[in-house]
Amino acid sequence: MTTTTLTTGVRVRDVRRVFDRRVVLDGADLTIAPGEFVALLGASGSGKSTLLRAVAGLDRGATGSFDVPDRRAIVFQEHRLMPWSRVWRNVTLGLDAPRLRDRALRALTEVGLAARADAWPRTLSGGESQRVALARALVRTPDLLLLDEPFGALDALTRLKAQALVARLWTEHRPAVLLVTHDVEEALLLADRALLLRDGRIAEEFVVDVPRPRALDHPRLLTLRRHL
Ligand code: ADP
Ligand code: MG
Repeated sequence: MTTTTLTTGVRVRDVRRVFDRRVVLDGADLTIAPGEFVALLGASGSGKSTLLRAVAGLDRGATGSFDVPDRRAIVFQEHRLMPWSRVWRNVTLGLDAPRLRDRALRALTEVGLAARADAWPRTLSGGESQRVALARALVRTPDLLLLDEPFGALDALTRLKAQALVARLWTEHRPAVLLVTHDVEEALLLADRALLLRDGRIAEEFVVDVPRPRALDHPRLLTLRRHL
C-alpha cells in the first residue's frame, strides 16, 4: 500500500483486499474531486466498508495506490463515543490544539448540541450521538469526510433530519465526501455521483445532475432510481 497526499480530493487505484482467500476488493478504482459528494452503493457484504477503511488508511492489508488528503475524518454507523468522557471531550479527543473546549462548542453548535456539551454520552439519543460523531469529524476541518452508513441505525424521522444536517454541513464546509450506504434514495438525495460496488470493483457510475435541494419525485431522480 503506497499512500501520498497530492490534493484535497481522492485518487485511489487498483485496491485489492483478500480475506481468508476470499477476494473482496479486486482492483477497485475511486476518484473524488475536491468538494465532491460521492455515494458508494452496493449489496450487503460487497466490500463497501472495506473500501472505505482502505481509503481511510485504516487497513494495512489492502494494497493499491492511495492519494488521499491527510485531513480526513470518519463517522461510522455506531457513534463510537467514549462513555467515560463528556460530550465536548469526545468531540476533541486526540486533538492537540489550544482552546479545545471552545473548538468543541463551535462544532457542537453546528450540529445543534451546544447545550449538551457537558452531558455524558449514555444520556444521548441515537440521533444525538450521531450528531456528536459529526461534530467530532467537523472539528478536524476535514478535506475528506468518510461516512459509513452513518444513519443506518436511526429511525426514519431522525434519519431524515440527520441527512438534512449532513447536506447543510457539506454545503457550508465543502469537504470531499465518501458516503457508504445501501439506501438508494439517500444517495440520490445527497450525492453528486453514485457508484455501485460489485464483484470487488466500481461496476457502475451515475451522475446525479439535479440541483439541490432535491425531492425524490424529481423526474431525473425517478429515472436514476430505476437503474440503481
Ligand atoms: P459491506 O460494507 O459492503 O456490507 P464489508 O466491506 O463489511 O461489506 O465486507 C465485505 C466482505 O468482507 C464480507 O464478506 C465480510 O465478511 C468480509 N470481511 C470484512 N472484514 C473482514 C475481516 N476483518 N476479516 C474477514 N472477513 C472480513
Ligand atoms: Mg459496511
